[in-house]
Amino acid sequence: MDHLFDSAGSMSEKENDPPVPTPDEISQKLSDFLKENFGGAVDFTAMPDTPEVQEDSEPPDEVGEVVDLLDFNHRPRDIKSHLDRFVIRQDEAKKALSIAVCDHYNHAKYLRRLREEDPDRAATVEFAKQNVIVVGPTGVGKTYLVKHIADLIGVPFVKADATKFSETGYVGGDVDDLVRELVQRAGGDVNLAEHGIIYIDEIDKLASHGNSMGRDVSGRGVQTALLTLMEETEVPVRNPMDIQSQMQAAFDLKGGKVGRRTVNTRHILFIVSGAFSGLEKIVQKRLSKGAIGFGAETADIPMDNELFRHVGTQDFIDYGFEAEFIGRLPIRVVCEHLDAGDLLEIMLNSEGSLLRQYEQEFAAYGIQFKFERKALKIIADRAVEEKTGARGLLTVCERALRDFKFELPGTAVSELNVDVEFLENPAVVLEHYRKLGSQVSAEQVGKEVSLFASEFERQHGVALIFEDDAVTAISERAMVKGESALQTCNLLFKDFQFGLKLIQKNTGRCEFTINSDTINDPDAFLSDIVVKSYRDAEGEESAQQPVS
Ligand code: ADP
Repeated sequence: MDHLFDSAGSMSEKENDPPVPTPDEISQKLSDFLKENFGGAVDFTAMPDTPEVQEDSEPPDEVGEVVDLLDFNHRPRDIKSHLDRFVIRQDEAKKALSIAVCDHYNHAKYLRRLREEDPDRAATVEFAKQNVIVVGPTGVGKTYLVKHIADLIGVPFVKADATKFSETGYVGGDVDDLVRELVQRAGGDVNLAEHGIIYIDEIDKLASHGNSMGRDVSGRGVQTALLTLMEETEVPVRNPMDIQSQMQAAFDLKGGKVGRRTVNTRHILFIVSGAFSGLEKIVQKRLSKGAIGFGAETADIPMDNELFRHVGTQDFIDYGFEAEFIGRLPIRVVCEHLDAGDLLEIMLNSEGSLLRQYEQEFAAYGIQFKFERKALKIIADRAVEEKTGARGLLTVCERALRDFKFELPGTAVSELNVDVEFLENPAVVLEHYRKLGSQVSAEQVGKEVSLFASEFERQHGVALIFEDDAVTAISERAMVKGESALQTCNLLFKDFQFGLKLIQKNTGRCEFTINSDTINDPDAFLSDIVVKSYRDAEGEESAQQPVS
């Protein structure tokens, strides 16, 4: 393999060397080389720069423009008001997160100023980072909160799942990749990335014992790796395990593009979350021993703010976390379970309500979409049954609306009203809308067919009289082909004028009746009547011959 690197390494010094290959070309060459020498046994795959990062992690809109953190002047109250527009309930979590975020960025701002004024003092300032742990079941707004905070402040935000990581990075992703992903989200701006937010979900799956989901040794290893990131470390901007990335770095260096090589994690805010099922039992057990009044430990009580007030570091350690790890997460909040009333409230009052989404989706097909309040209540009740928090709303709505979304676009239905009947008897309601759609669309097809007929007569001087069954056949054909009735007529009768004019010449006929047989086989119809017109013309001629 040496020769590959030799040629790349000494290229620029020699005049007749080939042009510098791109990293993609090199990776192709490496791949070909391995295939040639080892067959299918060894393969070369460029490792992705980053782990699988989840879709909620789009960069906030503001990133890309340079966000100057020295401008940070939000107050906790402003942040909470912003969150209130989107996130229903979770007041305690909103408050705690708003405060943590303000403290974090105010401190970063203070340090930046101090560094400019008194670098020596800045180097000695100590600050305990306000990393946050959010406990709460799925779909109650944990990610949603963090995403909206990042959007508001204008810092890059990356979301990942703790279960995707392995301690060494050989099997799963490498935790350092999260930091590199932040740089990407910040459009390559390392300074901005150093103030980004890393959000890791399913952190409870790293618990090493005490619950069946624990990953033991590997989970503990990932905790240690994350611990290093959460404290302070320098992460190489380019993944040292990724050949392609390293080559790109070498090329950048050659091309004079020398950017920052490492990212410091000191000011990256870490927010981790998980359902922590079973944590409530641990606390309850401890409390019932001390007789604080949480009753028998068998009672199935949810983790709410009241119980969470009693959750201490030891409970997380008992759950299976390393003391050092949990110690780096001093802010602890709970996002509570959402009941049917909360889900109704989300649909009605959250700015991100999925009702707005449905309104837009149907509007794209010219259909006005309306929900009745009673129907929304039913949807909320059904969504609770799903046990996936607000995510259940989407599941229930998709299920209820799928057939309508499929059938109604393209018909003449212009209004869809979701009421109790709609949810309770969907098949009957769908049939009603189908009929409505086809009735109105038959009217439309009729209009287009007469438009075609009058234009045909104007251009060619022959009239086409369409019978009702012809209009129905055109409508069916148009539906199958996904075209308008007018387009169908234009195609079906594309060259008809030549044959019809011939007939007109032969017989003087200038009106032709079109029925469904004509629509089903227009060529046969035309050739039949043309042949007949010759016969008729001949018959007339012979009738006019004087009898000898
Ligand atoms: P998780 O708690 O599992 O991180 P998410 O925050 O991703 O759940 O919630 C999924 C979706 O459900 C969000 O994108 C949002 O549309 C909706 N949602 C969840 N909780 C709330 C809430 N409290 N208020 C408004 N919408 C919510």
